[in-house]
Amino acid sequence: MKTIGIIGGGQLGLMIAEQAAVLGAQTICLDPAPDAPAFAVCDHHIVAEYDDAEALDELCRRSDVVTYEFENVPGEVLIPLTEKYNIPQGYRPLYDSQDRIREKSNARDNGLHVPRFADVCDRESLMMGIEEIGYPCVFKTRTLGYDGHGQVVIRTAEDVAKTEPYIGTPAILEEFVPFDYEASIVMVNDGKRIVSFPVGQNIHRDGILDLCIVPAPRMSDSVRRRLVEQSEAFMRRCGYTGILAIEYFIRGEEIYFNEMAPRPHNSGHYTIEGCTTNQFRELCRYLLGEPLQEPELVAPTVMKNILGEDLEAAERIAVEFGTGTDSRASRTEPGTYVHIYGKTVSKPKRKMGHITFVGMTRDEYDAKWKSHFVE
Ligand code: AMP
Repeated sequence: MKTIGIIGGGQLGLMIAEQAAVLGAQTICLDPAPDAPAFAVCDHHIVAEYDDAEALDELCRRSDVVTYEFENVPGEVLIPLTEKYNIPQGYRPLYDSQDRIREKSNARDNGLHVPRFADVCDRESLMMGIEEIGYPCVFKTRTLGYDGHGQVVIRTAEDVAKTEPYIGTPAILEEFVPFDYEASIVMVNDGKRIVSFPVGQNIHRDGILDLCIVPAPRMSDSVRRRLVEQSEAFMRRCGYTGILAIEYFIRGEEIYFNEMAPRPHNSGHYTIEGCTTNQFRELCRYLLGEPLQEPELVAPTVMKNILGEDLEAAERIAVEFGTGTDSRASRTEPGTYVHIYGKTVSKPKRKMGHITFVGMTRDEYDAKWKSHFVE
């Protein structure tokens, strides 16, 4: 029996571990939190910081193959491990995605259309950037930003002051894209072939994913085809294997790269029940050296993220329909799958779970379920 090592024990680690078990593999997970969600499901775990070289070495020693679900593993510790152990995705895709300037330069250099951007390190370069890009524009810290943290939309000269807390922190200034909607794709490449999951339309609230709707209702066939083709071509050109998610802004027929992540993605959670195979299982197949399977959409699907403020509602939905709040999909009513990650502390805006509604369109979701959750 093979063992997959996972750096990071959040909900992504938990769902990787669940799918590894389906394929008959064991998992060992490393996370600094003793109550990390994945620890409830993986076979073994190590409680240690992500920069604890000795603990990471132990994780790799005890694994046949290693992956990461945490994006900010420092290069100083991961690079030496990739030379010694089987970490097939390597450090490159992480390195390319950990810094927004590097990420956007890499995307542009490898064939993707990227919003105009400028490098900002102080007040002077910020003002130069604004002059070049114009209003409105978006200021983002270069590193460690996620879910809208460290971001300021600058619409007028008065808004510039809002960047004050971040001045001196390396940042990027981007053209504001007045997109029609956001979309994302998840792909797995085993070096021979790429499988792509159906493209979803993403609806964010306060910078955090709220809903993922598949198939993307507003997307034309030509945008969908180009988005898939260019994403797969990008992955090949960069030489990335394993899993890669790319988020885009769509405006008319234009497709703008926003960001990427070399790990399973929140917008791909719908694949667990919405597709014939899912992002976690195909990642495991890649890691285990098994042939990939082409996913197919089972039916139109809506995924609702459950943040702290929606946890009670999600638990009620699970209970009301006669099932527990297991982290594994609790099948409630046909097509309604409640996932609660088992995090011990619930906070507003913290991702606590998700619900997948298979066989449901956006309109049906709005009519039947929207009112259950915090507006
Ligand atoms: P990010 O962390 O870069 O994904 O940004 C979080 C959210 O902010 C995105 O999902 C968008 O809704 C919004 N956003 C970020 N960058 C831009 C941009 N250049 N133009 C318009 N909206 C943006």
